[in-house]
Amino acid sequence: MAWKYGKKWVYSITYDEGCEDLLRYALPVHRRYGIPGHVALVASQVGVRRNVPGSSYDGMKILSKQQIHDLVSEGWGVSCHSLTHCGVTFENGLEEVVRARHVLENALEMEVRLFCVPGDNTGYPAARAFAEQAGYKGILTIYDRVNLPSGDLFNLGRVPLHSEYPPPFYSAYDPYKRIHQAIDLGGWIIDYCHCPMPDKPVHPAKDCTTQELEQRFEKVCQIGGSDVWLAEPNEVADWVLSNPSLVFS
Ligand SMILES: [Zn+2]
Repeated sequence: MAWKYGKKWVYSITYDEGCEDLLRYALPVHRRYGIPGHVALVASQVGVRRNVPGSSYDGMKILSKQQIHDLVSEGWGVSCHSLTHCGVTFENGLEEVVRARHVLENALEMEVRLFCVPGDNTGYPAARAFAEQAGYKGILTIYDRVNLPSGDLFNLGRVPLHSEYPPPFYSAYDPYKRIHQAIDLGGWIIDYCHCPMPDKPVHPAKDCTTQELEQRFEKVCQIGGSDVWLAEPNEVADWVLSNPSLVFS
């Protein structure tokens, strides 16, 4: 199995919420390593201060439409992270999944083709039930695994790239996380975090630092060499959908 350009495995990274500080603390690292990024945006919160009380990121400035267009022009991608981030249910799916796509597309004046489940994976079954009706091409979750070429675009796993994992493990940061598994399986890693900061993460179990992000990219590039395809998720999904030899359902 070879991916686009004959690459043997794929590396992507996504940032939920799309904080403006990404421009300062993540974008320069992306440019140094030639890795495109991706932001999962709450449809009702483009270019404003995040209004999700209780969130570690509440009050942080979210990227504006122009800033998002600038990122897209250098290879970044976007997905819809629901309408309000309240958590998707079978009751609110029409609003949070279906209408959210239109609201975000209108706010950005661009097509949005992936949905990213907000909160934890408990909203996934409901998100899935509404995703096709909304016209999405795939769903990003936080099931922590490598995606396989034979996998399902509507159930994409993401690997948390966090400074420390929650109790009882408190696992230390590992910049090699799942890289060798992805190589063995010919798989696709989609990392996720929110907004890396210098020296100290916003929340240790939701984010990494800028330095840890750089370590991750260094390992991906050093170990992946010319075998790894560095791509944002929409690009990979497009390639999967246009490649009939793949068996994504
Ligand atoms: Zn979120």
